[in-house]
Amino acid sequence: MKLMLHVDPGIVRQPLIASVILETSALVNIERASIDAVSGEIVIEVAPEKCILVKDAFERRGVKVVQLEIPVIMDDEECIHCGACVSICPTGAFRFENWKVIADSGKCIQCGACVTGCPQRALKLVLK
Ligand code: SF4
Ligand code: SF4
Repeated sequence: MKLMLHVDPGIVRQPLIASVILETSALVNIERASIDAVSGEIVIEVAPEKCILVKDAFERRGVKVVQLEIPVIMDDEECIHCGACVSICPTGAFRFENWKVIADSGKCIQCGACVTGCPQRALKLVLK
């Protein structure tokens, strides 16, 4: 299960992930992290049975957590297989196969880059 963590300036320098791991004993895989001196956006993967526990632990520490349940959705009728999303996606969720663009939704971390980059508006994200 993927969780997106939004970390505000007031807490960005705290060892948030380490303390949540110690509290929950969950294995946390960091899939993407964009952190600077004032804020951070981190996508983590945790086992489904630990998801609520980990989410609660981060929220108690002041982190805004978004559960990424539904990966990007491609509208096959609108897609013209231009390949723009193949080069935009930071996780390699799109690839060409027999001159057609195929999506591997399991790789999607819902960053939204392909949604705005698609000239056909053929990609959608649903955030919970
Ligand atoms: S950018 Fe849009 S139109 Fe182009 S291949 Fe990707 S989904 Fe299809
Ligand atoms: S939302 Fe981001 S991670 Fe997901 S397919 Fe689009 S570019 Fe890739």
